[in-house]
Amino acid sequence: MPDSKLRILILSTPVGALGSGLGGGVELTIANLARELRSRGQTIEIIAPTGSQLGDLSIIQIPGELQLTAQTQAQAAAIIMPGDPVLANMWAKARAIQHDYDLIFNTAFDWLPFYLTPFFDIPIAHFVSMGSQIAAIDTAIERVAIDYPGTIGVCTRTQAETFSFAERCCVVGGSGVDPAVYEYCDRPDNTLAWLGRISPEKALEDAVAAAERTGMKLKIMGKIQDPDYWAKIQHDYPHAPIEYLGFLPTHELQQALRTCKGMLMTPRWIEAFGNVAIEALACGVPVIAYRRGGPAEIITDGKTGFLVEPDSIAGLVTAIDRLDEIDRSDCRHAAETVFSQAAWGSAIENWFYRLAK
Ligand code: UDP
Repeated sequence: MPDSKLRILILSTPVGALGSGLGGGVELTIANLARELRSRGQTIEIIAPTGSQLGDLSIIQIPGELQLTAQTQAQAAAIIMPGDPVLANMWAKARAIQHDYDLIFNTAFDWLPFYLTPFFDIPIAHFVSMGSQIAAIDTAIERVAIDYPGTIGVCTRTQAETFSFAERCCVVGGSGVDPAVYEYCDRPDNTLAWLGRISPEKALEDAVAAAERTGMKLKIMGKIQDPDYWAKIQHDYPHAPIEYLGFLPTHELQQALRTCKGMLMTPRWIEAFGNVAIEALACGVPVIAYRRGGPAEIITDGKTGFLVEPDSIAGLVTAIDRLDEIDRSDCRHAAETVFSQAAWGSAIENWFYRLAK
């Protein structure tokens, strides 16, 4: 590891202010990475949309209209820029101050940062936090992958394989948690949890259906990104034993989560990673997930949870019945080691040193 410290400029997601929940897992990813690298003596600055808040971390706030989220768009979608795009404003700011930094860390899954890469004088580490969504973005990422080898970081191998240029991606991991923030619980009550953005690609309805069949209460936490979708679930399952707790800050989230017997992850899409999985593990909560995308690389079947046939409610129910077989301390151990903030910080720091040399 080089002795010199890096000055790192983090470019946040343009789909929402940090703290709003609209950015999904990237918000926690940025917070944890910034704290970890700062504790290692690196200099960190964050550029994010106006209204962003991240505890004690300082943020350069940039006005402008938010970008549309990629997961709601079709593969053939054109690139859309609003009249006063926060994304362009953020990258104009980055360009103006780039010479005060050694490296830019891009977390925006959008066309512009990839297109702009050759116009910058300092290296850009692109953190790609979704699988293939829009062909035009794939093309822009691939161009950078070819011209700037090693600069495309992805969370998991399965995610990389959604791109035609999978072999050009570096698997750097999706995130890491600070175990001190999550309180371990080895005496759960008879409830289940589901966490995430409430949006169709997350298929919350499958978890609700499984909870209804088992009769176990399902605590739901997360940003309601698609109110019509949420209304339809409530309409379709009027008698399901569900309780919506809102979009909770991390401290409250882990308090509500830690006492649950298991957490359900039911993504319909190929989830790139799944921050909520490692948060559950940190509390000692086993995860039952479809064997698809990132969660299938996080969960060890039979040890830290169960991987079930994708889209199978019966599979979820069978796994729920087996939750007592899991030793919750194995879950916590995985979060303290492989999925810790320190382990992920090291992986990312090594990547940065390779690019900044
Ligand atoms: N989350 C939160 N409060 C809630 C529910 C979820 O802060 O009430 C956060 C959670 O900590 C996680 C993110 O929402 O960081 C969801 O990220 P994930 O990677 O699971 O999915 P994504 O939204 O990126 O697809």
